[in-house]
Amino acid sequence: MSQQRTFSIIKPDAVKTGHAGDIIALLEKAGFKILALRMTRLTEKQAQGFYAVHREKGFFPSLVRFMTEGPIIVMALERESAIQKLREVMGATNPANAAEGTIRKSFAESIERNCIHGSDAPETAEVELRYFFSTLDLQN
Ligand code: ATP
Ligand code: MG
Repeated sequence: MSQQRTFSIIKPDAVKTGHAGDIIALLEKAGFKILALRMTRLTEKQAQGFYAVHREKGFFPSLVRFMTEGPIIVMALERESAIQKLREVMGATNPANAAEGTIRKSFAESIERNCIHGSDAPETAEVELRYFFSTLDLQN
């Protein structure tokens, strides 16, 4: 497969606990090229929009609160099979079920505070990249 782009967020828990650098190092070691990267903080509306697919879930209000509690780092990443590979190196949503050596196994606190987001399909990756980055940002 040729080069592919995906979108990732280092979530507020990992920024707060000082694991952003560790996570970026693991991503680079896994062969991802960083196309764009920025620290930002989501408003309530932005967090609700970003996770709109989950708006009917019981954990949605808590998820929105968590994602807005502090700064996040948004990243555009590139490699071969980037979407699938990022999901692999992230590990399972619940860190209790995540494989040894994955980012969530290493740094996540709980199923909610799970330190990293990664797009789950090509369509969502493009929408999510566009949510945070311009064409110019992605030309690196
Ligand atoms: P992400 O979309 O952030 O990459 P994911 O695709 O592994 O994570 P989703 O099912 O899309 O998992 O859930 C989105 C996020 O909502 C999770 O990463 C987690 O922060 C939170 N979440 C998911 N399930 C639960 C739950 N049962 N209880 C609390 N929070 C949850
Ligand atoms: Mg998801």
